[in-house]
Amino acid sequence: MIRKLLRKVFRRAAPSASAEPALIPVERHGIRREQVSPAARKTCKVLQENGHKAYVVGGAVRDLLIGHPPKDYDVATSATPEEVRALFRRSRIIGRRFKIVHVMSGPETIEVSTFRASQDAESTETDEHGRVLRDNVYGSMAEDATRRDFTVNALYYDPQSETIVDYHHGVADIQHKTLRMIGDPRTRYREDPVRMLRAVRLGAKLGLSIDPDARHPIRDMAVLLENVPAARLFDEMLKLLFSGYAVPCLKQLREEGLHHGLLPLLDVILEQPLGERFVWLALENTDQRVRQDKPVSPGFLFATLLWHEVLANWAARKAAGEHTQPALFQAMDEVLDAQAGKLAITRRIVGDIKDIWALQPRFDKRTGKMPYRLIEQPRFRAGWDFLRLRAQSGEIPMELVDWWDRFAHAGEEERATLLRSAPETPASDAPAKKRRRRRRKPTGGGEAVGGAPEQP
Ligand code: ATP
Ligand code: MG
Repeated sequence: MIRKLLRKVFRRAAPSASAEPALIPVERHGIRREQVSPAARKTCKVLQENGHKAYVVGGAVRDLLIGHPPKDYDVATSATPEEVRALFRRSRIIGRRFKIVHVMSGPETIEVSTFRASQDAESTETDEHGRVLRDNVYGSMAEDATRRDFTVNALYYDPQSETIVDYHHGVADIQHKTLRMIGDPRTRYREDPVRMLRAVRLGAKLGLSIDPDARHPIRDMAVLLENVPAARLFDEMLKLLFSGYAVPCLKQLREEGLHHGLLPLLDVILEQPLGERFVWLALENTDQRVRQDKPVSPGFLFATLLWHEVLANWAARKAAGEHTQPALFQAMDEVLDAQAGKLAITRRIVGDIKDIWALQPRFDKRTGKMPYRLIEQPRFRAGWDFLRLRAQSGEIPMELVDWWDRFAHAGEEERATLLRSAPETPASDAPAKKRRRRRRKPTGGGEAVGGAPEQP
């Protein structure tokens, strides 16, 4: 139905070359104000009643036209941040690269930004590669549209009149399933290399193909991503990994030659035959959860992305005679330290990653009180999910995963039976396979490591 509507829109609103925007009424685009979140509607209304222009803009309008539920709402306005702040009791000005206002209404937070002038590398402060460092000059609505990245992201929806203001034929591009850059793609990538990642992410997520003019320069210009601050890159990576479309996004990144250097984390792993299956499984799993609106944690995903590096490091240490548990902790620190400079993984995420990894050898200990203690751990569930992925990828036997599932859900008697039936030797600990002949004398405290079973 939406497609039919769009076709109608396109027929009537032939793209014009003038700077006047197309005003597209509801009969031609089909977005009713009820489809827009109450908080976004209210924010626009209050601003307009106080004499300002205000529109829902960007991703939300694009997603509504495509038929995806928007995940958040941005509002663009002629009001300054201070004027916006004064109109909403529950609001605050936040200044990252530029000042914007968060307006809280019910459970929602709406990001309100003042119209800004287009970036111009000639007249703004840039780094030596042409990357724009400051872009906080206020401007007209037309300028605001022009400084946005893609035509489909430069659509302004007025909930009062249910009209879309379209400066760059974004509605037509949505109809043609095309992601088109506003302006010259090379210039726009130089100003902000993150736009290359956005192109890939939005293309994969929305099923739009990147217009050839915007697609071709990516391969050559990928190196510019090296100059982007790690924290910004990390934000964008999180968006990509948790878009619900991480698998198609990453496949596309590879195709565009964008995965090297950009994702130090994925770089190694995606090239590793052993880690490959595990990582794709983890990503598919995350995609599914995001699409089903289930909670996902960055710590869990990063733990999977780096696991095979930890495994290799851990195995080497054990082969050199280090004890299982301290060897794991050393391996964890070394792998995480190597990432620290490259990606700005926050300290909280690092904590989560370590928790999940540290639980893994404990799943091998199926005797005495230890299993009872393990299932009481607050991170037991995450650790078990991780264990299951390891089994699905063929690293360890599924028997171990099933055993813990049964143990966690069993009553007293069944637990005792399960403990009696558990194999004596660890079912996991695949790396120990290499050191079968070099086994040191038992270390006590359940630390002895047996030979690993053959992989299924
Ligand atoms: P999503 O929220 O689904 O990830 P989005 O397009 O809404 O996608 P945001 O990061 O929320 O992405 O940005 C909101 C809007 O700001 C975009 O639609 C676009 O108009 C503009 N924008 C974001 N990043 C850039 C950029 N790097 N260069 C130019 N415009 C941008
Ligand atoms: Mg958005």
